[in-house]
Amino acid sequence: MKIIILGAPGSGKGTQADLIKKEFNLNHISTGEIIRAEIIKKSTTGLLIKKKILNGELIKDVIIASLLENYIKNNTNFLLDGFPRTLRQAIFLSKKNIKIDYIINIITRTETIIKRLKYRLISKNNNYNILYNNPKIKNKDDKTGTKLIKRSDDKFITIETRLIDYNKNNTKIITWYNNKTSTKIIDIKSEITISQIFNLIKNNIIK
Ligand code: AMP
Repeated sequence: MKIIILGAPGSGKGTQADLIKKEFNLNHISTGEIIRAEIIKKSTTGLLIKKKILNGELIKDVIIASLLENYIKNNTNFLLDGFPRTLRQAIFLSKKNIKIDYIINIITRTETIIKRLKYRLISKNNNYNILYNNPKIKNKDDKTGTKLIKRSDDKFITIETRLIDYNKNNTKIITWYNNKTSTKIIDIKSEITISQIFNLIKNNIIK
């Protein structure tokens, strides 16, 4: 089974992705993670794209497509997270003959997103929020005790850039998949609880 999860930054996409991959036994492929790993490795691509990531800009379609290619070829069961982010990226998947069974489209109001991202703190594996999900000890991950940090692209100006990009591209991507009869689109409004969202997803996917 091949699933794509779409959602603006701060839509709760990452949380749902973790639940979905376990439930359906899928390989979780996150382009954001792939990119951050390239930056940490200081690879040629990593150095080239670092500034764009800090500014919250999308990196070029050809670069992200070539990074992704190795992860998707020969992979029959995956949950793709963070890709496609443009229509050209959706077309790239189609050209590679990758048929997507489901698109989970998480829809979130802009005010909600801004609130979540502005106050988000992260560790390697966990997300917190100063407004409604504070760690027990200030700036420390409850589970590992490591220091929490703000993501460098969670600054207000960067959030705005990311949201404008997201909305512009998301409509085109959804329209593209709407014309594909083999792909089912599951629209979910995200202003409900994590488990309510997850139940809606589960109820719409045939194992
Ligand atoms: P994410 O963790 O998915 O929010 O991704 C972090 C950053 O990586 C984004 O703000 C973009 O700069 C870049 N990025 C991730 N996926 C893509 C993609 N499919 N196309 C272009 N840029 C991407």
